[in-house]
Amino acid sequence: MKIHEYQAKEILRRFNVATPKGAVAFSVEEAVQVAQNIGGNVWVVKAQIHAGGRGKGGGVKIAKSIDEVRNLASQMLGMKLVTHQTGPEGKIVKRLLIEEGISIAKELYVGITLDRARSRNVVMASTEGGVEIEKVAAETPELIFKEYVDPLIGFSDFQARKLAFALKLEGDALKNGVRFLTALYKAYDEMDASLAEINPLVITTDGKVLALDAKMNFDDNALFRHPDVVAMRDLDEEEPLEIEASKYNLNYIKLDGNVGCMVNGAGLAMATMDIIKLAGGEPANFLDVGGGANPETVENGFKIILADKNVKAVLINIFGGIVRCDRVATGVVEAAKKVNVTVPIVVRLAGTNAEEAAVILNNSGLNFSVAQSLQEAAQKVTQAIK
Ligand code: GDP
Ligand code: MN
Repeated sequence: MKIHEYQAKEILRRFNVATPKGAVAFSVEEAVQVAQNIGGNVWVVKAQIHAGGRGKGGGVKIAKSIDEVRNLASQMLGMKLVTHQTGPEGKIVKRLLIEEGISIAKELYVGITLDRARSRNVVMASTEGGVEIEKVAAETPELIFKEYVDPLIGFSDFQARKLAFALKLEGDALKNGVRFLTALYKAYDEMDASLAEINPLVITTDGKVLALDAKMNFDDNALFRHPDVVAMRDLDEEEPLEIEASKYNLNYIKLDGNVGCMVNGAGLAMATMDIIKLAGGEPANFLDVGGGANPETVENGFKIILADKNVKAVLINIFGGIVRCDRVATGVVEAAKKVNVTVPIVVRLAGTNAEEAAVILNNSGLNFSVAQSLQEAAQKVTQAIK
């Protein structure tokens, strides 16, 4: 699960991770109010969307008067913000973070995530903060320093110091940096986060170390332990079809292609997407209806796929192991009768009761194209689109 920057900062403050003063605003008047409460004479108006690269896209602006805060807030609220992470369709800005302006001496990078290959959390730090860290990782990976965390020992002081030295911190900034890293790791760990990324981490002109930006993602499997995090969910930021799918416990991810895929099992779903690409097509989604899919889940999954306007053909690929193919076929036929299907559908069912399933599909009066092998199915579905 993802949350907004201002929410991540609220969480980080609980763990004594240093952040600039600030608060969320949903309207221009609230923005002005927050700026007045903060005081001072420089403020930053930041668009809150679940995507990075806002600075370059015009979603982070500095205001030198309350009037400017008001003007920037009214420009930003409701605007369509396009960044390299939103895709060309952009995101409508509905919330702002108003913060005190910070006088920056240096912009650094710190990130914590799980390194799956090593089965350990990794704390990363780089002097190359502020810019796109993906670019640094690709072009100058030696500038990203990493410390792997032993799950039994935790993140040690010496590791925090090592990273702080690598960041070339000295004096007060060194002490503050070590404290910052330790607090950030504690927040990541105790909140069951899957990502805590601070880009930039800034050293102010007076030696303070602050999280100028903050991004936190959470492990969905641990959300039951964190109702406060669940309450931060912003459905406006999520794909409507994915929200719909989550109601039925379907593992659905919307993609950019036009071949809708309905598959049982994540591995088979990945393989199906691969073979569609190999046949020259582009999958419109990932959908795993689950090993124990019943006619209802199949029906719901089918409706969600067809609700995607980009879908020009559908490939149903089910392996009948736990679920019987005839029950899947029944679900598909029921769903197809209820929704108005206007796109070609290719079905490949293998496993338990595959023959009965083929009979159900053929007798349905609906226009299904039945394939025997996965390869044949992929070819048929890409052919159907051409
Ligand atoms: P992102 O572009 O979505 O990652 O948004 P960030 O929160 O990282 O902000 C982008 C950039 O805006 C930062 O790298 C800073 O250079 C700049 N910025 C943000 N807040 C301040 C501030 O308080 N003072 C100054 N001088 N620059 C800021
Ligand atoms: Mn940033």
